[in-house]
Amino acid sequence: MSNNLSPKERLAIGRAIMPAQDPEARSRNFSEVNLGLSLEQAVREARRCLDCKSRPCVGGCPVNVSIPEFVTALAEEDLPRAAAILRGDNALPAVCGRVCPQESQCEARCVRGARGESVAIGNLERFVADWAMAHADTLPEPPRPPASGKEVAVVGCGPAGLTAAGELARKGHAVTIFEALHDTGGVLRYGIPEFRLPKEIIDVEVSRLTGQGVEIECNVVIGKTLTLQQLREDFDAVFIGNGAGLPTMLGIGGENLKGVYAANEYLTRINLMGAGQSPDCPTPVIRGRRVAVIGAGNTAMDCVRTARRLGAERAMIVYRRSEAEMPARIEEIHHAKEEGVEFVMLTSPLEILGDDGGWAAALRCQKMQLGEPDDSGRRRPVPVAGEVFDLEADVVVNALGTRANPLLTATVPELELNSWGNIEAQEGGATSIPGVFAGGDIVRGGATVILAMGDGKRAAEAIHARLS
Ligand code: FAD
Ligand code: SF4
Ligand code: SF4
Repeated sequence: MSNNLSPKERLAIGRAIMPAQDPEARSRNFSEVNLGLSLEQAVREARRCLDCKSRPCVGGCPVNVSIPEFVTALAEEDLPRAAAILRGDNALPAVCGRVCPQESQCEARCVRGARGESVAIGNLERFVADWAMAHADTLPEPPRPPASGKEVAVVGCGPAGLTAAGELARKGHAVTIFEALHDTGGVLRYGIPEFRLPKEIIDVEVSRLTGQGVEIECNVVIGKTLTLQQLREDFDAVFIGNGAGLPTMLGIGGENLKGVYAANEYLTRINLMGAGQSPDCPTPVIRGRRVAVIGAGNTAMDCVRTARRLGAERAMIVYRRSEAEMPARIEEIHHAKEEGVEFVMLTSPLEILGDDGGWAAALRCQKMQLGEPDDSGRRRPVPVAGEVFDLEADVVVNALGTRANPLLTATVPELELNSWGNIEAQEGGATSIPGVFAGGDIVRGGATVILAMGDGKRAAEAIHARLS
């Protein structure tokens, strides 16, 4: 099929279906679920794009990826051009193509979605990014800019920090990232499981940065190992992208029983430390025969699908609202269902019940119903009188969300925070301290990868303007 198609011919092409591992097989392994489009599928999908002059899809992307341009290059089978356009706009395209909530961002604005299915922008982004990784030796490296003589410290090696570092290095500044953990990537590595985002992709993206001269120092906790004041003295500017990794507690009885985890701890043990995946791993994790995960966001889906892979006979999502209000990406919910995850909806936990040995045994629950909308516009869950029941569970995972960790911020009284403990930052990331910028979850609270990256990109521009 040539690319000289009429709009009618383009409209006649149906959306490509992403090939995936068989649900039964994948619910027992940690390999990536989505297998990626073939070249033929990707080119055909790209030819569904109408190359709209008004480019509405671009406005739906927080970093304004030049979508029609890279998709048209792919439709013309010019992959080096597609890759160059994409990588010019997005520092982590292989990550975003996999984990962005496209259905509420770029794809939500695609005109093709108004009367059918939007162009699969995320899947095409993943295809081009993976192609570029596989053909890295044949693609020209961007020229190294002359050194500016300025040095910038970045706190945190998640998507916000990585993006800020990459953009600053591209402008000639010497960048050092300080990361508290022993490895890079932030939530991309310790939170999002291998079956959604293979660690190899993070390794390649990080090595591209270090290839541009970015230094990374792991095992350095700013606020403990070094202070922010020391960074201010040693560097010309500082970007804080230390995320929001502190769990919100359930505040119910039984939270200290054995077998009860906060989602970040549960996922970190498995994703970062290898618990459960390797028999030689010194880090333990309780596998659980019946696992109840409280919450319904991406984190909850990652926990419950992980529990299933660790052998849970019943892996359950317990959520106080209904399926329509679940905040997780549609694809994750769909995949979880295919893998046999149970959804216990309109159910709120009251207490975790333990056995005589201090182990979790059941979750006491209250049945809910939806009432009037609350401040968020979503219908408020209200208890159904007298409907209390127990759900057998030997592992309970709290995936209610996370907050800003005060480890760094509490050591700097002059850094302005909001009532949630997040750093107050202006557009461009400037904080109340001159020369100190911030972005990502530490400013927004738990948000998305691409929003964190957008903050990193804008802060890098503001830092560059200040240093110039
Ligand atoms: P982080 O990714 O949290 O990185 C912050 C880094 O700073 C960490 O490496 C941390 O160790 C380090 N750090 C913390 N304190 C210090 C310190 N004092 N000194 C030095 N280093 C420090 N978003 C999506 O768009 N799609 C998804 O599918 C998705 N799934 C998710 C699944 C899970 C399980 C979780 C937890 C989140 C998910 N998110 C998803 C949200 C997304 O991952 C975050 O919004 C994003 O990672 C925020 O990026 P960040 O760089 O601000 O922070
Ligand atoms: Fe869409 Fe995310 Fe890519 Fe932007 S970065 S075009 S929102 S998939
Ligand atoms: Fe292509 Fe959809 Fe963007 Fe139009 S809105 S340019 S059809 S991706």
